[in-house]
Amino acid sequence: MPGFEIFGEEEKKEIMDVLDTGILFRYEFGAQRKGVYKVLEFEKQFAAYCGTSFGQAVTSGTAALKVALAALGVGPGDEVITQGFTFVATWEAILDIGAIPVFTEVDKTLNMDPLDLEKKITSKTRCIVPVHMLGAPARIREIVAVAKQHGIPVLEDTAQAAGGRIDGQHLGTFGECGTFSFDAVKTMTTGEGGMIITANEELWRTMSEYHDHGHDHVVNPGTRGGEGRRFIGFNYRMMELQGAIGIAQLAKLDFMIAAQKKTKAALKEAASAIPGVSFRELIDEAGDSATFFCFFLESREHCQQVNKVLTDNKAGAINFGENTWHFYPRWEHLLSGATVAKNGWPFCEPDGRRRVVYDPELLPVSAELISRTLVYPIPVKMTEERLTEIRTALSLAAQI
Ligand SMILES: *Cc1c(COP(=O)(O)O)cnc(C)c1O
Repeated sequence: MPGFEIFGEEEKKEIMDVLDTGILFRYEFGAQRKGVYKVLEFEKQFAAYCGTSFGQAVTSGTAALKVALAALGVGPGDEVITQGFTFVATWEAILDIGAIPVFTEVDKTLNMDPLDLEKKITSKTRCIVPVHMLGAPARIREIVAVAKQHGIPVLEDTAQAAGGRIDGQHLGTFGECGTFSFDAVKTMTTGEGGMIITANEELWRTMSEYHDHGHDHVVNPGTRGGEGRRFIGFNYRMMELQGAIGIAQLAKLDFMIAAQKKTKAALKEAASAIPGVSFRELIDEAGDSATFFCFFLESREHCQQVNKVLTDNKAGAINFGENTWHFYPRWEHLLSGATVAKNGWPFCEPDGRRRVVYDPELLPVSAELISRTLVYPIPVKMTEERLTEIRTALSLAAQI
């Protein structure tokens, strides 16, 4: 899964281009930078790789969500629908912009259930954020169709699925925009970093300005200090060193996915022998980014028995029902409204009234499904010994 596994000479060379100029800032310094614009180049290459027009690099995948929501005009009083199985960053960004996250069930894609989405749309819904969790697609075409009927934009959280496709079309390009993360454990990494892609030039322009204090980036005699501004912004700028690493990592992305696919296929074959096993529904197996391998057992008890055998044989899998960062009922800080703000914002209004209360029992379908799901992260590199170890554990689990 993580790009850091194959960090090599190519990344170092790109970084040296930046260090040779000494210009770490993505804008300005025209004379000193000798034509080196790594972040700009990375944005162009990433957008082109995904088959779309515009890329906006930012400091993280969380910042990408925040900047995209801001550019879509989402703010306090609005509701944003996402899924109850995701990394906390998805709803942190929604709360940070002042909106209220509303959670849907996931189905056998382990992503947003479009039928539950329909039920959760209200007159306050301003954005829908499906997540392509664990490297594989949501039912994005159905989700976009539902959103269109209601005139609501779709933002795809593609943080975990860079390079994933459906019928050749890249994830992140089905909705109005798509966000990516390049943190240290994502498929490709820049250490920290993120990107938003879109085909909508006006939306991109708003993101570009918002992420840089509102600077309109129009060339003028006063240079940066003389630039205009249409609205207030913030600073989510990526730096040149990250852009440099991104260029080298992007060039390896298809290779990384191909390596993961091979390992994943071998694990799937071994897991198929477990009686009662079934697999996560993939919309398009050929377009799978294969960063994770997910399989379902018949019941929670069966799942625990299987994972005990796997663990006893040095190949324990992840059960996200026990993991506190990715599944709704385990987000006790969200459920209890824990915040650093003395007035309780964003869970309370400034006058202390509660804005939202989250019921831990909200998502029974997801809870049942996740309780019997096991997951292996797929590294880019796996030794034959380790692969054999996991396959052996899986065949032992098939005998209980
Ligand atoms: C990692 C991740 C993010 C946030 O990305 P960062 O770069 O770590 O801020 C957002 N959404 C999902 C689904 C993620 O996995």
